[in-house]
Amino acid sequence: MNRSKNIFKTAKKIIPGGVNSPVRAFSAVNGQPFFVKKAKNQYLYDEDGAKYIDYIGSWGAQILGHSDSRIIKTIKKTISNGITYGIPCADEVEIAKRIIKIFPSIQKIRMVNSGTEATMSAIRLARGFTGRSKILKFNGCYHGHGDSFLIKAGSGASTLGIPNSKGVPKGLAKETISVAYNDIEAVKKVIKAHKLACIIIEPIAGNMNFIRSDKRFLKKLRVLCSENKILLVFDEVMTGLRVSLGGAQEIYGVKPDLTTLGKVLGGGFPVGAFGGKSKIMDCLSPEGDVYQAGTLSGNPVAMAAGIKTIDIISKKKFFDDLCANTKYFTDSVNMIAQSKGIEMCADSEGGMFGLFFTKEKPKNYSGISKRNIHQFISFFKFMLTNGIYFAPSAYEAGFMSSKHTKKDIDRTIETIDSWITRRR
Ligand SMILES: *Cc1c(COP(=O)(O)O)cnc(C)c1O
Repeated sequence: MNRSKNIFKTAKKIIPGGVNSPVRAFSAVNGQPFFVKKAKNQYLYDEDGAKYIDYIGSWGAQILGHSDSRIIKTIKKTISNGITYGIPCADEVEIAKRIIKIFPSIQKIRMVNSGTEATMSAIRLARGFTGRSKILKFNGCYHGHGDSFLIKAGSGASTLGIPNSKGVPKGLAKETISVAYNDIEAVKKVIKAHKLACIIIEPIAGNMNFIRSDKRFLKKLRVLCSENKILLVFDEVMTGLRVSLGGAQEIYGVKPDLTTLGKVLGGGFPVGAFGGKSKIMDCLSPEGDVYQAGTLSGNPVAMAAGIKTIDIISKKKFFDDLCANTKYFTDSVNMIAQSKGIEMCADSEGGMFGLFFTKEKPKNYSGISKRNIHQFISFFKFMLTNGIYFAPSAYEAGFMSSKHTKKDIDRTIETIDSWITRRR
């Protein structure tokens, strides 16, 4: 760990916390990050020569594993024609065609540069379209770091939100209301008390570990939104092209008014997107009066990487295999936990999974909080020491790539087995 240690020491002097995104600092596991030298397929290699099986894949983006040779070939070919144009290119239309085909709820789509940008733009659009300003979100869901989302619940279910970051104006915070995930009664109360522009939700939450929304809850949310002319926004930045090709909306059979995408969509490049019904999307400039723009939006290299990724994962067998592999992993975890009598369980959908140190799978954020964080930290450290990288926080999900083999998974299960045995 010497090189990583030294780099981190320097980093902390010139980058806040030494990192460009907080979770990377490993502070949630009382640790120090390793610095990556290269990444190929299912593996990460650090500056000190250690090799890790990577169950994060850049927070889900690398669904084909790192540096897939087909993506690299595509990028090389594209970049030889130019890096950025700031004027339209045909691949922007090609990626839009594909997204619209995969997501029936999307009739028009606009590309941006990150998930944060996608969600920020989506709620501005919802506000512009409805002429209302309040939005409803759910505790534990993450929608990027836009001011309107860094909000925690007030004291009562329908009371206005308060910022959970300094720097968020109070005046803006009170335009966001946050209630418990999967709690339809709380939603009804809010709708009664306030005129909402939109309700935004991760239909399968991946930022409080891995928590599914209840099917009846999600369907009811759709009905309530339609009845009250509230736009339903699915934040599928993580789940889109990940839990299944068509995201959580495909699994649940619920059509949102707007969808946000990111992560897998850019094939590893900084890409986000938001889309939905034409009559809503047409409110965007230059067609309509809701302003939104981006110097590097629709970047040709990023578009080419995204298109290639979509074409590869669109083959039916791709998700069948990925899903089976992930399920093999989580089934094995559940089996071993049961046979060893330890409070631990796992769940998965498509190429995304959650590991919990509880007897039952949690249903909302407070279900996670009760979990023994202590157990997680011990687990994380043991796995890392043995060359297996899970997310450095108990509140993050895990991700399988198409490069992970049964052998990798079996080795992971054996290591989990020895952690359980060692604990005693
Ligand atoms: C990652 C994520 C975001 C933010 O995307 P960035 O590209 O990190 O800005 C928003 N919503 C969800 C559900 C995410 O998982």
